Amino acid sequence: MTVATDLQQVVEDTAAHLYVWALKDIPQDLRDAIAAAVERETSVPGRRVLETIVRNVEVAEERQNLVCQDTGIAVYACRVGEHFPLHPARIYDALKTGTERATVEHPLRSNAVHTITRENTGPNTGHRLPIVHWEFIPDWDGLDVKCVPKGSGSENMSFLKMCVPADGVKGIKQFVLESIVGAGGKPCPPGIVGVGIGGSADYAVYLAKDAITRPVGTRNSDPVVAELEAELYDLLNQTGIGPMGLGGDVTVLAVHIEHADTHMTLNPVAVNYQCWAARRASAHISAAGDVDLDREF
Ligand code: SF4
Repeated sequence: MTVATDLQQVVEDTAAHLYVWALKDIPQDLRDAIAAAVERETSVPGRRVLETIVRNVEVAEERQNLVCQDTGIAVYACRVGEHFPLHPARIYDALKTGTERATVEHPLRSNAVHTITRENTGPNTGHRLPIVHWEFIPDWDGLDVKCVPKGSGSENMSFLKMCVPADGVKGIKQFVLESIVGAGGKPCPPGIVGVGIGGSADYAVYLAKDAITRPVGTRNSDPVVAELEAELYDLLNQTGIGPMGLGGDVTVLAVHIEHADTHMTLNPVAVNYQCWAARRASAHISAAGDVDLDREF
């Protein structure tokens, strides 16, 4: 019991650190993607937007401030080893308390409201907030925690369509294209387009969110899916929407797809947009309570 309590404290401290860290200091893969975007953008307004984003990131670092005022909703992705000696119920408590502490101690803007009354529910927590995605790993005793604060501008640009199976890949491409063209400048492009394909309606949406948590530009391990990622990336960057919707060559930094097998008469496709401030911070926690901070996964 003592060990579990200590471990719960470790997870709480880690969550409090990850939430603030993610908001202040964006990962190197994202910095590289934005820098590459500056180089290939030919539109003058588009390039100016990207240069402003680069300066924004530098100022946040110099002043130890947030890269964006929208502290988002705290989303965590947890990979829990089957032998990790803290029950997921306690892990959830720790993530919630860590989120509250980060919000109060920094302090951060609290965005959480009751979905009907719109009254604030506390320090970025509430009923079923934060949101935690779980994956359970056999034959392992560790815990990986990834914090992905999700801004509302990009989250509002989320879409689901139950495509017709007979329309195949063409139908998928058309829906993703329509979604991104419809979103225009609203989700603060250029960002990461997460696409979830297959499973059920709810699972496709889950997969789309999972997709945006990957390091920028990583490819799906299934070559067929990876090819579709590349095709969609090229297609979306031909729309001319450009940085912040002001026109240009760079509309998206990456397209990530996660997929699941599905029913023969289903073809669910979900899109979840992650803005340029694609914040992400992670930690590996061992069964003994050692914490290894990491930006690479
Ligand atoms: S969408 Fe992203 S960059 Fe735009 S305001 Fe929200 S968090 Fe900030």
